[in-house]
Amino acid sequence: METSKVLKDMASELSKSMKPESLPLITAETSSEYVHKRVSKEQEKPVLKKNSKSAAILKAGYTKEKRMFEISMMALFVVLQITIVSLVTYHFKKEYLGAFLMSLVFGALLADFMSGLVHWAADTWGTVDIPVIGQAFIRPFREHHVDPVAMTKHDIVETNGDNCMLANLFLAPLLTCCYVYGEGWMLDNFSLLVFGATFAIYVCLTNQIHKWSHMIGGVPKWVKMLQNAHIIMPRPHHHIHHISPHETYFCITGGWLNYPLEKIQFFQTLEYVIEAITGHKPRADDQKWLKG
Ligand SMILES: [Zn+2]
Ligand SMILES: [Zn+2]
Repeated sequence: METSKVLKDMASELSKSMKPESLPLITAETSSEYVHKRVSKEQEKPVLKKNSKSAAILKAGYTKEKRMFEISMMALFVVLQITIVSLVTYHFKKEYLGAFLMSLVFGALLADFMSGLVHWAADTWGTVDIPVIGQAFIRPFREHHVDPVAMTKHDIVETNGDNCMLANLFLAPLLTCCYVYGEGWMLDNFSLLVFGATFAIYVCLTNQIHKWSHMIGGVPKWVKMLQNAHIIMPRPHHHIHHISPHETYFCITGGWLNYPLEKIQFFQTLEYVIEAITGHKPRADDQKWLKG
């Protein structure tokens, strides 16, 4: 199966490149078992004892104002997404089928790439003390590494609010163009509408997909089917990211791009360049929280 082959190849790469003292030896044959062992050892505990102080501080940063913001972003997203899906459905023609399918794939892949880029940036750089974005957007990433199962207790608003905001930033200008330029523009740019609808739904669901990948029980059957078909990120796939020091497999929508990006050392190269220019060490703040 494609997924297990990718996991096996990845495990071989990791076992070759990582230091033995920081990571137990993983062989291609035992990669899946290894990931599952780590899950039962590390993920099933609600809060790691040594990190409980960090987890409590990070959890306390979720304010009422942030929650109101998330609710308004979710409401706006529902309106915008229904509008763009209605426009795609209304303008669909048989001859558009090829463009329709290509735009679906491209929208999903770009959402996966963006999920990796945003996740990497928030995990690797910045601190929770940065005004506005520190508490609101970097804090959840720190909390997630300190206490990976905390997010499985987050409700639909806390899970999806931020991602609805990101999807809205893309959907709002796209729908403004539809309104301003009208029917002809929509027909000329049908692929863009399909791409937009697909990209936005995957962006919006990124953290929900992420949450499902951390849930041990209570995952609906249809979600498991989507995970098994790799239409959304499967559970063992994401746990490669949670192997300390959390420096690979950042894409969390479908996870399709993790293996190729790792192969070309995409994030490692970016880190090398940024560190050379700024002098900042990657993941310095993340490691600080993990030490409690
Ligand atoms: Zn992470
Ligand atoms: Zn995670």
